[in-house]
Amino acid sequence: MAPAACAHRLIFRRMIFGNNEVRRSLSFRKVRQVYQTLLGRDTVQPPYHHICQAGDPVLRACASPVDPEITTEKVFQKLLDHMKAVMRHYNAVGLAAPQVGVSLQIFMAELTEKQLKYYDSDTIRVREMKPFPLQVFINPTLKVRDYSVLKFPEGCESIRGFDAEVSRSRAVTVSGLDANGKPVTWEAVGWAARIAQHEMDHLRGALYVEKMDPSTFTCTAWQKINENHGRMELRYYNRKV
Ligand SMILES: [Zn+2]
Repeated sequence: MAPAACAHRLIFRRMIFGNNEVRRSLSFRKVRQVYQTLLGRDTVQPPYHHICQAGDPVLRACASPVDPEITTEKVFQKLLDHMKAVMRHYNAVGLAAPQVGVSLQIFMAELTEKQLKYYDSDTIRVREMKPFPLQVFINPTLKVRDYSVLKFPEGCESIRGFDAEVSRSRAVTVSGLDANGKPVTWEAVGWAARIAQHEMDHLRGALYVEKMDPSTFTCTAWQKINENHGRMELRYYNRKV
């Protein structure tokens, strides 16, 4: 082996193992990360496989409109597929592009029968929760159709582990372009309207904490934390991602 190759191998080993030469375990993820670094490619680039958390400037920026011309391009369709995969992986009912680090005016929403099984029948009735298929909006605008205000607990994957009661209008109309760049309108009522308003807020850099009743802000695991003597972890990723 040539000396230059030996030096390169040594640097590579140090990048992986640090100064602890006796460490034997080596994850595939770490090897890939080091190779990407050597090749000048940073693997941690948007769109992320994880969901950005409050404090990340991308969640406070006003998202840019999408040029309708690019909606049919492969790279844009890939972004939509990626967002859909992340939303479903986190079992979320809505996701806005800034939440995966992309400051564009795109959001999607979906409420499945399976997700409704987390709620009892009274909650489903009072909150007007009805399943609806995947909705994708590019450059959306929102109009309130029913100004009656409903106040219910609401969470956000970007404020993981917490929820709070938020007042939202009962019915709204969302208009924009669909996944194929065609004009689309959605009449959303009850829980669907809440999701739409929540996701629209993301596109203008707002989070539900600005609209919540602060006295209802809750750590969703507070009881389990007591039961487990505080031995709880909050993950910001799912293992399969
Ligand atoms: Zn959110």
